[in-house]
Amino acid sequence: MIKCKGKGVYGAIAIGNVSLFKRQDEPVRRIHVEDVAGEFARFEDAKALATEQLAEIYEKALKEVGETHAQIFEVHMMMLEDDDYNDSITNIIKTQSVNAEFAVATTADNFASMFASMEDAYMQARAADVRDISNRLIACLSEGEQTREELTQKMVICADDLAPSETVSLDKDKVLAFVTAFGSSNSHTAILARNMNIPAVIGVGEDFLKAAEDGKRILVDGYTGEVILDPDEETESAMRRKQEEDLRGKALLQELKGKENVTLDGTKVNIFANIGGVGGVGAALANDAGGIGLFRSEFLYLESTDYPTEEQQFQAYRKVLENMSGKKVIIRTLDIGADKQIDYFQLDKEENPALGFRAIRICLTRPEIFKTQLRALYRASAYGNLGIMFPMITSVSEVEQILAICEEVKAELKAAGVPYDEQTEVGIMIETPAAAVISDKLAPLVNFFSVGTNDLTQYTLAIDRQNAKLEPFCDTHHEAILRLIEMAAENAHKHGAWIGICGELAADTTLTENFLRMGIDELSVSAPFVLPLRDAVRKLDLSK
Ligand code: PEP
Ligand code: MG
Repeated sequence: MIKCKGKGVYGAIAIGNVSLFKRQDEPVRRIHVEDVAGEFARFEDAKALATEQLAEIYEKALKEVGETHAQIFEVHMMMLEDDDYNDSITNIIKTQSVNAEFAVATTADNFASMFASMEDAYMQARAADVRDISNRLIACLSEGEQTREELTQKMVICADDLAPSETVSLDKDKVLAFVTAFGSSNSHTAILARNMNIPAVIGVGEDFLKAAEDGKRILVDGYTGEVILDPDEETESAMRRKQEEDLRGKALLQELKGKENVTLDGTKVNIFANIGGVGGVGAALANDAGGIGLFRSEFLYLESTDYPTEEQQFQAYRKVLENMSGKKVIIRTLDIGADKQIDYFQLDKEENPALGFRAIRICLTRPEIFKTQLRALYRASAYGNLGIMFPMITSVSEVEQILAICEEVKAELKAAGVPYDEQTEVGIMIETPAAAVISDKLAPLVNFFSVGTNDLTQYTLAIDRQNAKLEPFCDTHHEAILRLIEMAAENAHKHGAWIGICGELAADTTLTENFLRMGIDELSVSAPFVLPLRDAVRKLDLSK
């Protein structure tokens, strides 16, 4: 059994056998030619043939992946006409008196390395496009078609990399999954795979290719990017179970998409999704989440080697808000410390990090970091329906300090003429027993509460959430936790605030009835749980 890890670009599971993608990769030879004009003519003929083939591929792509994604082949046709590209080829033929194949291959190398060296990931991915059109031209010069896989049964296509035209040319009904050793998630191949609804993992590395052989058993997890060759029985059964669950979830998705989160007796609840980065919005929307109930903003800091700037943060928040098109997006301010350590924050080592310098405690001690984030958040508020949420609250005075800083930030933006949404809601996480117990004092200060049951459980039961050995002692349904949530819900409503739950417990459908009876207004869960939770809600009858 060999395990490799790449990047999943389409979430689905495939179980099957390897088919190595074969292409005619004859090395291009440099041949001296006397008849330069004749070589020009050969090149022009090949270009016409390549354009014809691309037009056919465009039509196929149009049917299979839609206009937006088929456009790449129009771009390829345009690239074939690009002046710089053509000039380079004709110059090489003329100045070196060489065959057109060699001129095309040399030009492809030059242009591809130029694209590959660019900073911008999108431009880097264009290196594959230039190679793709050049390989086609070379095949046309040899009056051959580019090789197409003739598959007789559904297989997992494994390749070093796949060009967009190769991806589309494959018979979709015979492809279980794509796995490539190289490639970027920004490449058109990845985008096409995603839109063909085919599980795909890219960048699994060279070693994978060495181990993969035609017909070998292979498991592909497009969610985690895991690819397993020659799996043992137990691993294959586990993957099959995951596949069945995935398919069940997707069937559920089709049925429940667009339906309301309403119980049989008419009680409504918002079901939102938790995300950890801008990339999570796709899954939230695909699973029909009504909004984002928790955007863990610390990912921006964790992925960076220095403090992310206001502009970088603003762009990320704005993107999420715009992509959610007016649906509620609750962004939680920086929650680092404890299990999330970041070197450049230079936090001291602590005896008890979970009880230490974390989250809002860092923000209130280092207001410059906090204000940068708040400025970015308020600026982004002009682009959607934002709620700002503060983690690890234990006292009224913390909330008062936070609100004063928010007012300062808004006043600065106003003075500078920067637009922001005055209606932006502010909320706090109820994730310490202290916050729940004084929720009557906290509720009048904010628009909403969101219960962080992960930390609330840790602090209520005195159980380190990182310590696996404590699992037998960790009763997530402990009455103390449920009573604290109920207390917070009552106090929120008494003071005109709404209350959600964004910890893992929100997805526990054995508690959904309890939560709705407490009057919880919103449940925010990982995207794959949105529809199962909707299903559970729609089966409940609270009138009984
Ligand atoms: C929680 O504590 O329940 C929560 C949602 O926050 P995190 O898991 O990020 O600490
Ligand atoms: Mg927490």
